[in-house]
Amino acid sequence: MMERERLEILGCPIDVLTMDTAVEHISSAIANTGTCQVVTANAEILYAAQHDPELFVILQDAGLVTADGMGVILASRILGTPLAERVAGYDLLHALAARSERTGWKIYLLGAKQEVVDAAAANLRRMYPAITIAGKHHGYFAQEETGSVLHDIKQTGADILFVALGAPRAEKWIYANLNKSGASIGIGVGGSFDILAGVSVRAPLWMQRIGLEWLFRLWRQPSRIWRMLALPKFIWMVLWNKWVH
Ligand code: UDP
Repeated sequence: MMERERLEILGCPIDVLTMDTAVEHISSAIANTGTCQVVTANAEILYAAQHDPELFVILQDAGLVTADGMGVILASRILGTPLAERVAGYDLLHALAARSERTGWKIYLLGAKQEVVDAAAANLRRMYPAITIAGKHHGYFAQEETGSVLHDIKQTGADILFVALGAPRAEKWIYANLNKSGASIGIGVGGSFDILAGVSVRAPLWMQRIGLEWLFRLWRQPSRIWRMLALPKFIWMVLWNKWVH
């Protein structure tokens, strides 16, 4: 791994990155042929990690943890160590897909419904004609099928494994299985395949820029309200910790 700077939010590491430096780190990890789990951490994941020791350990052990979402950027400001920008999973997927056209990295898509992952792969090929999608598999397989999924990934010789199983399931799956997959990089990318497939839509850029992507998500999917309460709870916890220490 290249030299890196990290901050700590509620005991969890966050790498100080821009999209460009994130891609450089991943590129050097592939060149070093080790394995590297990349976690795109949003407020929900960091909050969940406070009550989920397994997730907490995954964050400590991850090769790279990016700040995904305004909640994490806000927390970095509260702590007096402001991060320059978010590195969201969906944007990182695009940045790596674009880079892979030059480097020849092989990509594997794991997750979402069969028709969604098929459409996501087709759309990626349309957007990045020189991309190598080595393989894909839907995300609704039983625990007992893990071995055959890993066998499929391994025989494709994939370098980057994008996992869209929902958070934190994807992070846990990668933690348990990346070293058996033969891939160098494993990244949980949440609902990215649904966006690539056109099944769900991302907030308009202006909303993303002013940090209101969460509001757009809530409007599209009001049932997320309970999960999204993690955001104010997370900010509250960050403030509380700052005051107490
Ligand atoms: N998903 C999956 N297998 C499952 C559950 C979910 O492949 O058992 C996929 C789902 O189809 C979607 C993605 O995981 O493409 C993200 O799901 P969700 O939006 O619930 O997750 P989050 O926003 O928390 O990452």
